[in-house]
Amino acid sequence: MTCASAGSVGEEARVAELVAAACAGDPRSLARLISLAENASPALRPVMRAVAPYAGHARVVGLTGSPGVGKSTVTGALVRAYRAHGLRVGVLAVDPTSPFTGGALLGDRVRMAEHATDAGVFIRSMASRGHLGGLSVSAPQALRILDAAGFDVICVETVGVGQAEVEVASLADSTLVILAPGMGDSIQTAKAGILEIADIFVVNKCDRAGAQEVVRDLRTMIAMARHREGDWKPPIVSATALTGGGIDDLVGRLDAHWAWLGKSGELDRRRLARAREEISAIAIAALRQRLGVGLPGDSRLDDLAAQVAAGKLDPFSAADELTAG
Ligand code: GDP
Repeated sequence: MTCASAGSVGEEARVAELVAAACAGDPRSLARLISLAENASPALRPVMRAVAPYAGHARVVGLTGSPGVGKSTVTGALVRAYRAHGLRVGVLAVDPTSPFTGGALLGDRVRMAEHATDAGVFIRSMASRGHLGGLSVSAPQALRILDAAGFDVICVETVGVGQAEVEVASLADSTLVILAPGMGDSIQTAKAGILEIADIFVVNKCDRAGAQEVVRDLRTMIAMARHREGDWKPPIVSATALTGGGIDDLVGRLDAHWAWLGKSGELDRRRLARAREEISAIAIAALRQRLGVGLPGDSRLDDLAAQVAAGKLDPFSAADELTAG
């Protein structure tokens, strides 16, 4: 046996131990596994091999919406409600927009304290670590790890705004789009694409003036959208997450959506689409790595770009040169 293979046997054993501990409910092992995903560590490969047979059972609920609408508060209220039903809940708070804030996000604030001693709750923030592929590679892997570790429900909360938010939301089986009155967050100004991804709308802060207007605008918008027979028509939940108002209704709507997902075949379609995205993100990151594109210190692309910009080279020939290695 060579040293290399002895080493990899040791590595496999270490990974198997870590995975077993995480699946047995050890939060520190779980945190270490998720760090491997976040850092795109080479050790992630054997981890994902080990967890693959155990994933696929968790319900994934995505929460998205502008900063300040109450995503963390709604997440906290959902965690409480699901715990009351005896379910284990994981929370992944992902920030696609700020690269190096990992660990300091909302998940680690107040809500943490409330659930700190509850082994049935695991809360973790993830930021893009700047490696190739970023969160599009690491977030789905973290999700699979939580899933394999036996969490019944996983809430994926996206922080920040932008297209990345829509992409991360595609990780979810059910996506909640949260709105609130008085946030300059009316239907007319909502970010393009954000309303389309909603399976359920939550109008939060219903204790505040203007909430009914938001509900009414949403109703009009939903009524105008074309829904075919058998389609899911997104319901609107009025909530005051701060006091837990509307959360039981939300849990009920989520259950109904989950039932529809199964019955309509949409769950399988969504999960297939998710797996396709995952594979593509990993493959594209690997290709970029192989080509050296985007790695620190890589100047080939810059050189070629300068030639193309100066009209000395056409972009197709430049791309050929790049891919020729
Ligand atoms: P996020 O940025 O979307 O995660 O929003 P947060 O959950 O951090 O909430 C932003 C602010 O709104 C906080 O000060 C919350 O206490 C407050 N908030 C959340 N839900 C409600 C609510 O139902 N009513 C009122 N009045 N305030 C709320």
